[in-house]
Amino acid sequence: MAIKLHDSLTRETRELHPAQPDGVFRFYNCGPTVYAAAHIGNFRTFVVNDLLRRLLELEFPGKVKHVRNLTDVDDKTIRRSREEHRPLGDVTKQWTDKFHADCAALNCLPPHVEPAATTHIPEQIDMISILEKKGHAYRTEDGSVYFKVSSYDGYGSLSRVKERELKVGSALSAKPQTHDADEKEDGSDFALWKGHKPDDGDVFWPSPWGQGRPGWHIECSAMSKKHLGDTIDLHTGGVDLLFPHHENEIAQSQCCNGTQFSRHWYHSEHLLVDGKKMSKSLGNLYTLDDLKAKGFSPAALRYALLAGHPRKQLNFTLDSLHAAESALKTLRAFRSQLTPAGTDDPFAPIFTALNDDLNTAGTFGALFTIVNKGAANISAVAFDRVLYALGLDLTEVAAPKADIPADIAALAEKRWAAKQAKDFAAADALRKELTAAGWSMLDRKDGYSLEPVKK
Ligand code: AMP
Ligand code: ZN
Repeated sequence: MAIKLHDSLTRETRELHPAQPDGVFRFYNCGPTVYAAAHIGNFRTFVVNDLLRRLLELEFPGKVKHVRNLTDVDDKTIRRSREEHRPLGDVTKQWTDKFHADCAALNCLPPHVEPAATTHIPEQIDMISILEKKGHAYRTEDGSVYFKVSSYDGYGSLSRVKERELKVGSALSAKPQTHDADEKEDGSDFALWKGHKPDDGDVFWPSPWGQGRPGWHIECSAMSKKHLGDTIDLHTGGVDLLFPHHENEIAQSQCCNGTQFSRHWYHSEHLLVDGKKMSKSLGNLYTLDDLKAKGFSPAALRYALLAGHPRKQLNFTLDSLHAAESALKTLRAFRSQLTPAGTDDPFAPIFTALNDDLNTAGTFGALFTIVNKGAANISAVAFDRVLYALGLDLTEVAAPKADIPADIAALAEKRWAAKQAKDFAAADALRKELTAAGWSMLDRKDGYSLEPVKK
């Protein structure tokens, strides 16, 4: 079943297929800027991309190459390192490690390659040199190099910025919002290379244009080219990256390589908190740790982040996390009643919904229709495939508190021992006894938990 996904460039929903004869699906997802803990809005984007990654793995087994970069040099990272009087590399390592830990807690698969901007300086310089040779870039007196937007006719195809310009007369000439403060000839031109300024301290590299550092946009063009080649199958990010970041990536890559950059573009929408844009000053900016401190599990956050359609804004509330915890509990109880011996696979509607432009809202609706009908003869293997696609690790969900009668606890102990001794027939018989007595047992690697079966 092919994955259909909305393409922000053509504005059509199209099937995903690898273009190269090797059959490898080339997937680039813009990664985090590592200067602070990522917030739950960032994680909405990364969790949605993880869902996409998992569906791709199911569709093209062993033939997915997922690259996600680390922005470890820009105005924000440099500012943080100056404020804290720490070397840039120390700051970015701290927040890269934190990002990895949070991603693991949210059960996001690591990308196959995670290139960092600071370890790809020569690749970025090469690309800028080619753009300069081809007449798409110019130097300024301060040792910077800018991309000349008027040199590329295709500029604006993704964001329709030229159409907007005609309508409102301001988009292109206005100073684009970027990670870096720019100086340039034309409002729409953007920095490829930034000549060294005192504020950058010891953060600079030698280049044909003197000491400096790369602009923000060029890293993705250069790292995508290096790790995936000139043309990739899919490029993704949050909706705020569509303009100018992705528009600029297209301009740089297509002018440098002379060929199409990405065959498909996907942008997921933002997360709002209590109906508002997240910000420190409003006090509504949450990190995963903030939610853990309130007693919520990372699995509940993952569930809540997936619950809304990824191309619609999602309003996050703490109530949505309570609802997620309870949905996970239901799924967990359901899972504990399934056995590998079950033969029914009623989950086709789940994959139909997921493969239809990541219709997660429809997915959860279909899932609970099945779950509410009861476990009957449903195959555990089939359900685990659904859990894999959604990245829901039910073993992480906190065990519900319930008073467990001594005879039930004893039965469970006996069953656990049988399972450890690999006496699966005895273990299955004991599970049946437990189920008959109204209890379900969920096994983990290192133990188990018990909970009353939902009637
Ligand atoms: P950054 O670390 O700022 O480069 O952002 C990392 C990713 O998070 C990018 O793909 C952004 O588009 C995305 N992002 C930023 N804010 C939000 C938000 N409120 N909701 C969803 N995604 C976001
Ligand atoms: Zn990028």
